[in-house]
Amino acid sequence: MTAAIIDGPIIDGKAFAEALRARIAIEAAKFEVHAGRKAGLAVVLVGEDPASQVYVRSKGKQTVACGMNSFEHRLPADCAEGALLDIVERLNADPAVDGILVQLPLPDHIDEQQVIAAINPDKDVDGFHVVNSGRLSVGLPGFVPCTPLGCLMLLKDRLGSLSGLDAVVIGRSNIVGKPMAALLLAESCTVTVTHSRTKDLADVVRRADIVVAAVGRAEMVKGDWIKPGACVIDVGINRLPPADGADKGRLVGDVDYASVAQVAGAITPVPGGVGPMTIAVLLRNTLVAAHRNAGIELDEAAL
Ligand code: NAD
Repeated sequence: MTAAIIDGPIIDGKAFAEALRARIAIEAAKFEVHAGRKAGLAVVLVGEDPASQVYVRSKGKQTVACGMNSFEHRLPADCAEGALLDIVERLNADPAVDGILVQLPLPDHIDEQQVIAAINPDKDVDGFHVVNSGRLSVGLPGFVPCTPLGCLMLLKDRLGSLSGLDAVVIGRSNIVGKPMAALLLAESCTVTVTHSRTKDLADVVRRADIVVAAVGRAEMVKGDWIKPGACVIDVGINRLPPADGADKGRLVGDVDYASVAQVAGAITPVPGGVGPMTIAVLLRNTLVAAHRNAGIELDEAAL
C-alpha cells in the first residue's frame, strides 16, 4: 500500500473540528458584545467514572477556549435522583446557562429518561430530549445529537450535496444511528438503517454510496463490503486487548481501516475522525442555543 492511497481518502476530523472551533470562537466573541454576557454551558457529572471525568474536563477546557462560560456540577455516585433533578431545574431557570448536558451513563438507580425529560428542550444541547428527536423527525429547528451532526458536517464537506445518494447506517441507537438516519433523509438520501438482526449486512452495505458505522464492534466492516468510491464514516471507538507487554490496547473503529481504505473514496480514521467532532458540535449547539435564547440572529448554516 502506498502512502498516496491511504492519504488521499482520509477525512481529517481533527482539522475540521479545529476550524469549527475557530468559527465558534469568533461568533462567541460577537455574542458577548451583543448580549453583554458570555454564552454558557453547564455540565453535570454524577459519580467518578474515569472516562466521563476525562470527557467532562475536556469539554470544560474547550468551552472556555472558545470564549464561553463553563459551569461544572458534580454529584456523588450514590446521590438521590431528586438531587440531580433539582440541579437540572436550577440550570433550566438560570439565564447564564444556555446549554445543559448531563454526562451519561448515569448510575443504575437513576432513570436516565426521567433526567433527560427534565431538561428544558431549548437548553438540551445534546439533543436527547424527545421534543428534539420529534423536531428532527419532522424537520423543525431544534438540537441534534452532536456525534451524528458532526458526521453529517464531514460528509457534506467532502461530498457537497448528498441528494439522491444511497446511505446505509449500521446501528440504530437513539444517540447515533437513528438521528443519523433522520439527518441523511433530510438531505434527500435514500436511507437504510441496519442493526443486529439485519440479514446479509455485507450485501446491504455494498449498495451504499455513504456508510455510517455506529455499532461498537471492533473492525467489523470489511473492505469487500464497500462499493468502490463510497464515503465511509466510522463512529466506533473500541479498545483492542493489549498486545504483549503493553498496558493498553490500540483504539480502533467499527471499520477495518486497512482493507476499507483501499476501496473507499473517503474514510474517517480512528482516532482523528468522528471523535474530535463531537465536542466541537456540542460547543456549536451551545452557541446556537445562546443566540436563540437571547433572540440574537446567527447564520447557523454558516457555522
Ligand atoms: P449502541 O450499543 O447503543 O448501539 C449499537 C447498535 O449497533 C445497535 O443498534 C445494534 O443493533 C447494532 N449492532 C450490534 N451488533 C450488530 C451487528 N453485528 N451488526 C449490525 N448492527 C449491530 O451504541 P452507540 O451508542 O450507537 O455507539 C456505537 C459506537 O459508536 C460505539 O463504539 C461507541 O463507542 C461509538 N460512539 C462514538 C462517539 C464519538 O464521539 N465518536 C459517540 C457515540 C458513540
